[in-house]
Amino acid sequence: MSESPLYRLSSAFLSHFDGLAISPATWVLLATAVLAMVFHRTAWLTLLLVLLTVCLSQEMLTEPGPALAVWLAWLWAFWRPDKPLRLTGSWLPLAILLIMALWPWLPFLPANIQQWPNVKWPDILPIVNVSPVILTLIFLSGLSALFRFVLKPSASWPWHGLGVLLTAILSWQGEQAASLVWIALSLVIGATILTDAYSVAYRDALTNIPNRRALSQALRTLGRRYAIAMADVDHFKSFNDTWGHETGDQVLKVVASILTKHHMPVRAFRYGGEEFTLVFRGMTREEATPILDELRERIAEYPLMVRKSDRPTSRKDGKRQRGATTSAKQVNISASFGVSDNRHAHSPEDAIQRADKALYKAKQAGRNCVRSG
Ligand code: GH3
Ligand code: MG
Ligand code: MG
Repeated sequence: MSESPLYRLSSAFLSHFDGLAISPATWVLLATAVLAMVFHRTAWLTLLLVLLTVCLSQEMLTEPGPALAVWLAWLWAFWRPDKPLRLTGSWLPLAILLIMALWPWLPFLPANIQQWPNVKWPDILPIVNVSPVILTLIFLSGLSALFRFVLKPSASWPWHGLGVLLTAILSWQGEQAASLVWIALSLVIGATILTDAYSVAYRDALTNIPNRRALSQALRTLGRRYAIAMADVDHFKSFNDTWGHETGDQVLKVVASILTKHHMPVRAFRYGGEEFTLVFRGMTREEATPILDELRERIAEYPLMVRKSDRPTSRKDGKRQRGATTSAKQVNISASFGVSDNRHAHSPEDAIQRADKALYKAKQAGRNCVRSG
């Protein structure tokens, strides 16, 4: 009587615990799984479990099981709990997954996928013992993951691509190589979870620039010489009232981007609401002022396109209104700045307070200007 795959899978799993000699790979896996649970990363947890299946199904190398599991893992990697699963980006793995799943029932395909087609692999790529077709497809998926990363950077894309690629290839190489890759992949997943968690804690969700918690940490390691500035968007309340809260949010993103995307020696943080804090290490307020003036000018010159917020609700009205006037309009925004430094304050927190007072002076002076205090 032949053993069922399930039986072989479970005995392979149990053999890991023989005499409680748990392998390093298993320890790393367990640690990563705990991390994934603590940070509520269900997608990562599932990915780990599916990859575990790949590792444990070493004995079924000639069957489509491992490959199936790898592609399932890949699909899961695309899935984010906060976003719906988008199949557009994962069409290639999905197609391969389907072929793998249907393989045994497709009579015109050979039963053993690894020997198809029966081409000798070039000697320069000696260790890979997988069908060139499968390997090429896996490689293309990895490349597509990397391309997507170049087009739209996100922390985890290349790791998905690289990790799944390596695991897929080396799962066919025997236990040792597989468990090395397994450790590497678990570490990468663990690092990604921590990076994600760091970004959740230290970045502002709306503008994606460092938040107030990041500011507190930066203030603790500021050194003896520093200047600190506060920036506040002018007449922001009436902007919100006129153009709507969503457009207001758009303004905050624009201002945040102007304050952070430059090559000047200053770090910007979102302090809260429409206020930002700028930190200059090793500089005086006199040295900081020209930089603040430059940033202020960039904000004032930014051509902002806005739409009236009370959009017509019925389609008919919409057509009439759009026909009559164009609803988009260019407006300008501005911000005021106050700056202080270590010579006028006895602590970074005190410098923030003084910068805030100076900001008030800038508002009194007519806004869209820099004042120091
Ligand atoms: P001033 O020139 O004196 O600074 O006038 P102001 O209207 O900008 O000042 P005020 O502090 O009275 O208004 C700040 C407004 O910012 C109030 C609030 O509606 C708005 N606001 C705060 N946080 C956000 C946000 O995250 N998004 C949007 N859209 N608006 C915000
Ligand atoms: Mg304000
Ligand atoms: Mg304001």
